[in-house]
Amino acid sequence: MDFDLNEEQLAMERMARNFAEKEIIPNLKKEEFNRELVRKMGELGLFGSAFPEGMGGSASGFLAHSVVCETISTYDSGLRALFNLQAMTVPYAMMEWGCEAVRKKYVKALVSAEKLGCTCFSEPNAGSDIAAIETKVVDKGDHFLINGSKTWISHGTVADYAVVYCTHDRSLKHNGLCAIVVETNQPGWQPHEIPKLGDKASPIAEIGLEDVVAPRANLLGEWGSGFKVAMTALDRGRISVGSGAVGICQACLNASVKYANERVQFGRPIRDYQMVKHLIADMVTYTETARLMVRRGAWLNDQGRPFTREIAVAKYFAGEAAVRAAGWAMEIHGGMGYSLELPVEKYYRDSKLYQVGEGTANIMRLLIADDALGLKKANRPRLKVPGDFRDLS
Ligand SMILES: Cc1cc2nc3c(=O)[nH]c(=O)nc-3n(C[C@H](O)[C@H](O)[C@H](O)COP(=O)(O)OP(=O)(O)OC[C@H]3O[C@@H](n4cnc5c(N)ncnc54)[C@H](O)[C@@H]3O)c2cc1C
Repeated sequence: MDFDLNEEQLAMERMARNFAEKEIIPNLKKEEFNRELVRKMGELGLFGSAFPEGMGGSASGFLAHSVVCETISTYDSGLRALFNLQAMTVPYAMMEWGCEAVRKKYVKALVSAEKLGCTCFSEPNAGSDIAAIETKVVDKGDHFLINGSKTWISHGTVADYAVVYCTHDRSLKHNGLCAIVVETNQPGWQPHEIPKLGDKASPIAEIGLEDVVAPRANLLGEWGSGFKVAMTALDRGRISVGSGAVGICQACLNASVKYANERVQFGRPIRDYQMVKHLIADMVTYTETARLMVRRGAWLNDQGRPFTREIAVAKYFAGEAAVRAAGWAMEIHGGMGYSLELPVEKYYRDSKLYQVGEGTANIMRLLIADDALGLKKANRPRLKVPGDFRDLS
């Protein structure tokens, strides 16, 4: 086993850190979506680690993607969503399941952040249960017509391109789902921002879809195979979400070590008190365990091996670790944890998402337990995707 990052991965980590110090930290307090910042991140290649060079990437791999995503999230977890929307769940799904025209038109533009992406699973009546999606697609021959509503869509208000999951026949459940690339510059795409607790750099929308049109070529995978597209996209998305959670853990640890060293009570720095040391020790342990598990999932993906089970275990644990680390950081900071002066309250607000997004903690538990109990194997042979880009010369 080699636990060391290679030179390329270390260089990318440094690049992300330098970028964050210069571009993210000065604007952190604003807690708002910043299009120019996203453009710079794309220009620097922060979203391209897992993409081949022909698709605007650096072909560095999923482990490199995880390292960059974790580093950015250590500074602002609100930017973590970009590592799915400009990488894993949007352009990567397009590259993996789309036809040549889709790959050419959308992938590079998203990876470079020249255009923005979003991914639309969730609906008012379909959250964890994706097979319950009600948004309806009708095949009109040369194009598709989509009607319905989506909610909780990250970047739904700002995205240029969306992957919309919809059904051609609800009675077929999983087997009726389709994944279709939609361009949002049409009147039927009607997003409204909804306020939320944290992750403020990443706006969320509910979206009405009224006679939204997509050309036939924009179908990802086959008609009725949208569930497979969704599952592979979510597996990859969990690499980013797990990495983001590790980033928050590290941020909480950094802040807590600094505060415990500086804050004096009863005539001594609070680091001298065993109960404070206990929290620091737990934060180190949870952070490092989560990081190792997430990186194992990313590494397996780099080897072309199944990783559904491992990344579910990692995402579940990293989400729990993030919430605990944020709570412990609040505790170590006493009243200052509750203050808006320090970023600890932001870590606390941002951390909770990691138990919800890309499959809730319960959905991860189900997947892990069903696998362990022999009820449903999580890791199946790698899906053969149509016109696999890895086979292209
Ligand atoms: C900040 C943020 C960003 C998001 N971004 C996106 C996005 O870009 N695109 C998108 O499509 N969605 C997005 N989501 C939505 C997210 O994916 C859903 O919130 C998530 O899938 C859970 O769905 P739900 O909220 O409807 O909860 P529900 O599915 O209604 O679950 C409610 C509770 O019941 C539990 N539960 C449900 N089913 C089971 C079961 N079978 N067994 C045990 N427990 C169960 C859940 O674990 C949870 O605790 C985002 C959410 C947030 C908070």
